[in-house]
Formats: sequence, structure tokens, C-alpha cells
Amino acid sequence: MSIKPLDPEVVNKIAAGEIIISPANALKELIENSIDAGATKIDVTVQNNGFKLLQISDNGSGIAKDDFPILCHRFTTSKISSFSDLSNIQSFGFRGEALSSISHIAHLSLITKRNDNKDGDLAWKAVYEMGELLPSSVKPSAGNQGTIISITDLFYNTPSRLKSLNQKEEYHKILDCLGKYSVNNHGIGFTLKKADESKMALIIKSTTPVLDRIRSIFGSSIANDLIAFEIKDIDELVEELGFVSCKGLVSNLNYANNSNRKAAKPVFFINNRLIDCEPLKRAVYQIYANYLPRGAPRPFVYLNVCLKPDHIDVNVHPTKKEVGFLNEEEIVTFISDKLGELLSKQDSSRTFKANA
Ligand code: ADP
Ligand code: MG
Repeated sequence: MSIKPLDPEVVNKIAAGEIIISPANALKELIENSIDAGATKIDVTVQNNGFKLLQISDNGSGIAKDDFPILCHRFTTSKISSFSDLSNIQSFGFRGEALSSISHIAHLSLITKRNDNKDGDLAWKAVYEMGELLPSSVKPSAGNQGTIISITDLFYNTPSRLKSLNQKEEYHKILDCLGKYSVNNHGIGFTLKKADESKMALIIKSTTPVLDRIRSIFGSSIANDLIAFEIKDIDELVEELGFVSCKGLVSNLNYANNSNRKAAKPVFFINNRLIDCEPLKRAVYQIYANYLPRGAPRPFVYLNVCLKPDHIDVNVHPTKKEVGFLNEEEIVTFISDKLGELLSKQDSSRTFKANA
């Protein structure tokens, strides 16, 4: 016999390595958990670019003490209970794999206090190793409503992963991830702090408008040349394509004149999920190319596309950076055509101004 079952510990580590590929990716999972828990404030602290410490504190619902024993087991979730729930998914989470995965490749501890007082007026502390709660670690603790999850020594037991990641780049990815979520989550405040620096690296108040969020994260050179883009309330499209709306901010046609402008990749969300969508990216760039000189810098594009939940397959990528959706080609063409209309109005007003 040459085929043997793998040790469960090996299985768990391999699975964890697919889901948690970097500190930024662990952070994404944790931010999504905080948003799913109804948080309006998310504070992140990192040390050594997230490798030594990645801590996320939220003011969400908190976690029930009764749930502690299975919290970091694989496939345990409070968000769905049947496969069919996936076709009407409103939460980011659905697999119950993030905390489990993290606990197999890092040390994970938490302090949590529920918002319903069912665990008394106390916060509770817990520590996990390899998916398992250390029972003696469960202790009452001081704490505010919500959850603080601390992850230390990420990838300590997967040395090849640790070596393959560039420390500095990872910090930028953390900032990028937090920044993008803040852009699409008006109403939630975000902060980022390096543990060894007294000054915050990023402060976004819950009341900060979207444009100011973009200014803080991507810079004024981008934020100064943006226009609002919105498509909504087209009943035939909801019926025919499952397309509900698309909203965001995009570069106007003056942006290309600003030579100091930083480059930025498009920021796309589908039903509030941060995703890569190559076809939409290509179509959007193609539309801008119709109005700009050759070699012009890439425009900045932030769009949140809303589709009927039963038209999306959220379970197509281990890190959830892609989603599948019905009528992709028609929807992408529709959005880019509408963007073209917006830019053409800009273009004619620009010509008008130039001739006036
Ligand atoms: P999923 O998000 O797919 O359910 P996770 O492993 O990310 O899986 O989280 C497991 C469970 O832990 C969640 O279903 C949720 O009940 C709970 N949880 C995780 N993070 C938080 C948080 N910040 N606040 C409240 N509950 C949380
Ligand atoms: Mg989750």
C-alpha cells in the first residue's frame, strides 16, 4: 500500500495554509468577523508587520462563553446551518474555517464580552492551540463589550511560508486591506497602530465620509479628482440579470493631468465582499482609454456592485478573493457602458469649458 491517510494535524495545517496565506489575509478574515458581529468600531494593532502580533478589537456582539470549546474547531459557524443558506448569504462568513485555520498556524487568544449580558457583566478570556481551547485559560477578565482577538507568531510552525513572505510588503497589504474595508463601510470607524509607535498609522472615524476615507488612504491626489457613479432602481435588470445596483467613486477625466498622482489598483466589492474581478477591471480601463491619451496613468475606481444573493457563488476561492456570478458578461458590459456615459458627459463639459 502506498496511499495512507494523513495525520489530522497535517490535514489541518495544510488546510490552514490555503485559507490564511498572509497576515493581511488573516486580518481580512478577522475584519469580516467583526463586521458580521455588528461592530461599529474596529481597532487593529500590529507588531513586526503582523507576524509577531495581529490584534483586532471590536465593539460587536461578543462571543458566548458556551461557544468557547468549539470556536476554533473546523467548520463550526453561527452564520449558516444548511447548504441552501449559501444561496441567500448576507454575512461574510459561512465556512467556520478562519479561526480554526489561524489557530493551527499561530497562537490565538481572545477576550470577549457579550452584548446581552448572558455571561454576566464580565468579559471572558480564552486561549487556543491547534484548534483546541485550553480549558484552564478560561478566566473572567476586565473588558468592554465586543471582542479582542490576538494572534501571535503567525506562521511560527510553517517556516517555508514565513520565509516566502516579504515583511515590509505585508505591512502595506495590511494597510491596504484595512483601508479598502473602511472605504466600503461607512458607519464603521477603523484605526491601525503599530505596537511600538505611539502615533496611529490610520484613523477613520465612524462618521468620516467616503471621500475623506479615500483621501486618508489613497491620498489627496486621487481624492481631488473623483466623481460619483451610481446605477440603481432598474427593475428589468433585477429581473433579467439579477443586477441590483452599483455605487462608487471614480476618477474624473482631469486626473490624468496630475503627474504626482499615486497609482492605485481598482477597488471592487461585490455585495460588500472585497474581490478581484478581472473582466470588470479590463472593461473599466478600456472605457477610460477611449477618453484619455495613450500612456495616461490608470484611473482610480471604487465600485460596490450589488447582485441578487442567489445569483452569486461565494464559495469559489479559498481566500474568497473571487466570487462567481450569473450573467457576468452582460453585467460587466452594462456597468462599463454606464461609466462611459458618465465620462462622455464630463468630456463634453470639458470641451465646452475649453472652448468658452
Ligand atoms: P465564520 O465566520 O465562517 O463563521 P470563523 O472561523 O471566522 O467562521 O468564526 C467562527 C465563529 O466565531 C463565527 O461564526 C462567529 O460566531 C464567531 N466569531 C468570530 N469572530 C467574532 C467576533 N469578532 N465577534 C463575534 N463573534 C465572532
Ligand atoms: Mg469568519
